[in-house]
Amino acid sequence: MGCHDEICLVCAISPAGGPHSLIHHSNVAQESAKLAEEILALRPDLQMDATGIASIVAVALELDWDECRDVGLPKIEGAEGLWAGHWDGLSRAVLVGHWNEGECVNEWEELLVDDPDDEDSPYYEHRFRFPTGLDVAVLPGVIPEGCEPCFYFAEKGPTFDANYGQKSTLGTFLTNYIGVYNKVMEENPNVTLSTCCFDYLLHWIDFERLPPPRISPSGNALSLPGELYEIVNSRLKHKGGVQPVDLCFLELTSPRGTVDSLPCINYDDIDITLDQYQSHFECARRGVENVAQAISSGLRGVDLIPALRQDYRCWAFMRTDIWPLPSMAGMDKLVYTVHSMKETPSPQPKRQLDDLPNDILFEIFDQISIPSFLALASTCRSLRARLLSPDVADPYFKHLVYTGQLRWILPVPGVPEEDEHAEDAAVHWLAHVGSSYSKDEADTAPFDSPDFPYYQFARACHLWDCTRNRRRIWGIVKQFEVLWHNYRLHGWEVDRFIRDK
Ligand SMILES: [Zn+2]
Repeated sequence: MGCHDEICLVCAISPAGGPHSLIHHSNVAQESAKLAEEILALRPDLQMDATGIASIVAVALELDWDECRDVGLPKIEGAEGLWAGHWDGLSRAVLVGHWNEGECVNEWEELLVDDPDDEDSPYYEHRFRFPTGLDVAVLPGVIPEGCEPCFYFAEKGPTFDANYGQKSTLGTFLTNYIGVYNKVMEENPNVTLSTCCFDYLLHWIDFERLPPPRISPSGNALSLPGELYEIVNSRLKHKGGVQPVDLCFLELTSPRGTVDSLPCINYDDIDITLDQYQSHFECARRGVENVAQAISSGLRGVDLIPALRQDYRCWAFMRTDIWPLPSMAGMDKLVYTVHSMKETPSPQPKRQLDDLPNDILFEIFDQISIPSFLALASTCRSLRARLLSPDVADPYFKHLVYTGQLRWILPVPGVPEEDEHAEDAAVHWLAHVGSSYSKDEADTAPFDSPDFPYYQFARACHLWDCTRNRRRIWGIVKQFEVLWHNYRLHGWEVDRFIRDK
């Protein structure tokens, strides 16, 4: 078994913090040429040929690589220490599963399988069956110091598997399901996720709105970790042999070959940055819009790196427990100004909406999404002035933060220091809007202050890399919520569990 990184089941970041440079050093020429082509297609007005653009990009990619080589992790001005690998929440893991001292928890199973190419010749397939989610344990994991950051070890963990548990002084080698080798995947039902993602999952899923927990054949209700373990393992689809990283188990086709209606987890291609090791952002890139814009405005060399990092979606690897401050770069753009709106004639029906009292407006907003709300606010000057004014936008966004689509903005209990970090940021935002709120004198938390600028803060959280990653993880947790709902309603999609004897 070779070395490899594991990535968290929820955020798809390896505990080493994820990639440390944009691309592999040997790919600079190839990648620059590829980007140049895309840039030209996007901006044919650039007065440059592909070779010229490629050499500009190559210089910046070389500089990025040089910068990352010495420190191991990228430096971003004003954002040092914000990388996922710099934070225990994302670089420590919990391991959800079964731990039997010295013995294997799985059972071999022999299955008669139909051969799709030859109906008359079914063949036997051997695979493991796993224990059910009853009595699943949750253990903290660490990456041992001085080792390559590619193995998880359970802290003082017992032996997991006689065949694949590699004993060490620290504990036992363990792997999660998003592993490199199916051989490992097939034989280990345990699930690994970063400690903060585990807390987010249990806090952000609205369990009260789900069907009641499943009851095992022996009459016991499963714990939430036990259910998570069953959700992951009952959706597994194996592919034979050893192959590169592949989330094939999330493809969700049943053994009978019918496509299941349940959705799979969409990591928005962050997971494909894992190629044995999760070292480069290369596969996470989406387009060239930022770098094309930067080149067009004359930026060169090291000044191009921030735009490149935007296009390579490096923000998806930022720690999630740091909230934006009004003093940060770019936040000044958020200050709401009526005067920036162009004069547009306002048709009569909009005026009627404009005249409605706040209570009625809020009921309407409840029925629409945030983008629809913002689109509505941009239809004309008077609506914009009304909807984005503090007495309409702030209560509306506060409502969304506490009850709806923006709940990810608040700190999650259990994640160390999130409360402090969020409240510190909130105090800054209160001062920014001229509130007299003082943390020492106030009876209430800063988020509860009637002056808190929820609208501005929510917009800043959408822009700031750390909270943007937080929102991304919220989106994945909401996908797990759907899986959880369907699991409680319909049970296992694939039965891979040891039967009661
Ligand atoms: Zn995670």
